[in-house]
Amino acid sequence: MIRVSLVSLFPSTKDMPMDGHDSIRFDLQPHPAPTAADARAALVANPGFGRVFTDHMVVIDYTEGQGWHDARVTARAPLTLDPACAVLHYAQEIFEGLKAYRTPTGGAAMFRPDANARRFYKSAERMAMAPLPEALFLESVRRLVQVDRDWIPSAEGGSLYLRPFMIANETFLGVKPSAQYLYMVIASSVGSYFKGGADGVTVWVSQNDTRAASGGTGAAKCGGNYAASLRAQAEAVRNGCDQVVFLDAVERRRVEELGGMNVFFVFQDGSLLTPPLDGTILPGITRDSIITLARDAGLAVREAHYTLDEWRADAASGKLQEVFACGTAAVITPIGRIRNPEGEFVAGAAGTAGGPVTQRLRKTLVDIQRGTAPDPHGWVHTVF
Ligand SMILES: *Cc1c(COP(=O)(O)O)cnc(C)c1O
Repeated sequence: MIRVSLVSLFPSTKDMPMDGHDSIRFDLQPHPAPTAADARAALVANPGFGRVFTDHMVVIDYTEGQGWHDARVTARAPLTLDPACAVLHYAQEIFEGLKAYRTPTGGAAMFRPDANARRFYKSAERMAMAPLPEALFLESVRRLVQVDRDWIPSAEGGSLYLRPFMIANETFLGVKPSAQYLYMVIASSVGSYFKGGADGVTVWVSQNDTRAASGGTGAAKCGGNYAASLRAQAEAVRNGCDQVVFLDAVERRRVEELGGMNVFFVFQDGSLLTPPLDGTILPGITRDSIITLARDAGLAVREAHYTLDEWRADAASGKLQEVFACGTAAVITPIGRIRNPEGEFVAGAAGTAGGPVTQRLRKTLVDIQRGTAPDPHGWVHTVF
């Protein structure tokens, strides 16, 4: 295997200090047989979501007492795990999701990767895992985008979806925080998340299952939250819906979020509302960006509780005009209809395809992400 240090390939990038540990270098172990250009072009042309993967991955090991070590960019390949590997039993796992976009000049840029690095750090703390230094997170995603740059789709709506994640991999069945972790980044060429066109998604109100409770892990981006949401998601699909909207775990009245997206309500007076970050909601970076962009545009944004009953009544009266879901994968998607066993209603008075505020915010955000509009908040990080 050829081993070339990425430091020598990208001499401007210095070795990363590792929280007081020795500085780390990323070894580049190039794929011995990367995908041929024509095969790659065919895959990237119409990738769907989450099925087309690039040639490489980043791997960094953590060992208690030694810290993070052996950072490498290597050929993407299956893992070998001991059957007693801790994550397989106690689900100590966290992840992130962010995108690299083609810029108008043929380069690539990531959107707010520093915010993902910070959230990943906090998720690790909540799950009693070894936090990854934010600088190391940033360097890892940057290097994967550099090495797999040809996998970034240039088609409208396309991007390279980056999936950093960490698992507990100590071989031990005792219940305690693992002494060993494996941090990895994989990348997937993606088109748009929802197959449907402009019409909004239909969401199913979960009656029995909740996503997160006070004191739990709702604010951490961990796989376990998703595992707990899948029965409701399957129920949604059985009932002809695209996504689930979860209510609070205590009273089952307040709207929290969808399985993997935050939610916004737009009122007749032009103001916005989104549920507050009080521990049971995932602090979305798209959510935060939308709050900022809406306020930039002079719109009032409240972070406040909103019940399903209020939603139904306000949609009927016309007070509530538009509702949308937001997250990295789907950006901003109108919510068209809301359904539960008792029936269905149109989510907002503006209709099932969303409305002007949703559309304007989506365009403002996408234009910044793709580098076709000014970036007043310094959100776009150029990779090359
Ligand atoms: C990732 C995620 C979001 C959206 O977060 P972004 O940073 O905007 O991608 C919302 N809700 C849940 C449960 C999530 O896991």
